[in-house]
Amino acid sequence: MKDLGERFPILNEMQKGEEVIWVNPDKVSFAESMKGCELSMMDVEDAEERLKRFAPFIMRCFPETKNRNGLIESVLTDIPTMKDVINRKYGSHLEGRLLLKQDSHLAIAGSVKARGGIYEILKHTEDLAMEQGMLSLEDDYSCLAELKFREFFSQYTVQVGSTGNLGMSIGIMSAAIGYQVIVHMSADAKQWKKDLLRSHGVKVVEYDSDYSEAVKNGRRLSDENPGSYFVDDENSRTLFLGYAVAAKRLVGQLTEKGITIDAEHPLFVYIPCGVGGAPGGISFGLKQVFKDHVHCFFVEPIQAPCMLLGMATGLNSKISVQDIGLSGMTHADGLAVGRPSGFVGGVMKPMLSGEFTVQDAKLYDYMRDLLETEEIFLEPSACAAFQGVIKLQQSEDIQRYLKENDLTDKMQDAVHIAWATGGSLVPENIREEYKKTYLA
Ligand SMILES: *Cc1c(COP(=O)(O)O)cnc(C)c1O
Repeated sequence: MKDLGERFPILNEMQKGEEVIWVNPDKVSFAESMKGCELSMMDVEDAEERLKRFAPFIMRCFPETKNRNGLIESVLTDIPTMKDVINRKYGSHLEGRLLLKQDSHLAIAGSVKARGGIYEILKHTEDLAMEQGMLSLEDDYSCLAELKFREFFSQYTVQVGSTGNLGMSIGIMSAAIGYQVIVHMSADAKQWKKDLLRSHGVKVVEYDSDYSEAVKNGRRLSDENPGSYFVDDENSRTLFLGYAVAAKRLVGQLTEKGITIDAEHPLFVYIPCGVGGAPGGISFGLKQVFKDHVHCFFVEPIQAPCMLLGMATGLNSKISVQDIGLSGMTHADGLAVGRPSGFVGGVMKPMLSGEFTVQDAKLYDYMRDLLETEEIFLEPSACAAFQGVIKLQQSEDIQRYLKENDLTDKMQDAVHIAWATGGSLVPENIREEYKKTYLA
């Protein structure tokens, strides 16, 4: 570690539990970044088409998706009052327009996991049914809700390791299709999330250990059972592509608001990061669509900055936050991951603009700020996005980044999106607790 600290001085600050801001030295132009990349826009479009095929089925099983014809999508909301408060209270000097992408309110799972997690289950379902000749591309997929299909899928098991939200999306969707479902929950998982899953008939296995252990065990148990499919959050390309579809849908939402993204109107996006799949997939999609005009930043807790650690050192999944003496413990359960996805670190290396880390206490302040200004509730993990919004124009390193990218004089026309990754399913009594947590 001493050696690593000398080569990467930011590690010394991280090790002390200080908040840091990191600008990615390996970022290159979009065109350059796609050379040798294993995924492309075609893969994102394939995922988008699959979600369209499943829309009639989703609408049938989850009537709350009717208003969007079975697509699981969230609103994009202007939050000007939050912007004013951010500038006044935190001295942010934020210019441009501030929007909130409310994945916190996605149907079915109430978090960003309703994108990747649900998509992966649908893909697996289509694969199984097609292998058996029970389904073809031209069919109306609402037939999948029929008894014949439910009986067929009940022979199969789906398993996943989760800190909470991934388990909820996988669990609820798998149960709706008819699978046996086992969710392996790390110690960070909140009780109410386990209770909710059990109420859907999902088997929840609890661990005293962290996320990586829950995943490892889940993977092993699944591998022992030939009828079991393991959703591998650390390596899954399918999950990643499910998240990436968000970008294509965002284009239409920006157009509806009369927003154009181009060289004069850059887009800045701030996404809370755990193992990396959600922020990585969304950023990958955004880069395909907006190319060099979008600047993606991840945000992680000071005790669990696994993606930053992996990317800054180039060690990706070969290093964990415990290796530099951090605990991995955080109130942000959705981000409580000690070891990042090596796959995501590799794909993001030439694309990501940078990272911010944040103290737990601030997540609750940002949560209260948003509630007071915009009457929108987010879970603490999701509030990490605001750390990026708040710190962007206060940081010398970022000022340099803006200058190098010819952005300094464009900031008054910039568009900022805080990606709100979860919260709508948090029960009322827990919300009340959160409102009082870390109250100064
Ligand atoms: C899972 C999650 C994230 C991060 O996603 P990863 O794929 O783990 O990086 C962010 N916010 C919330 C609320 C989440 O549940």
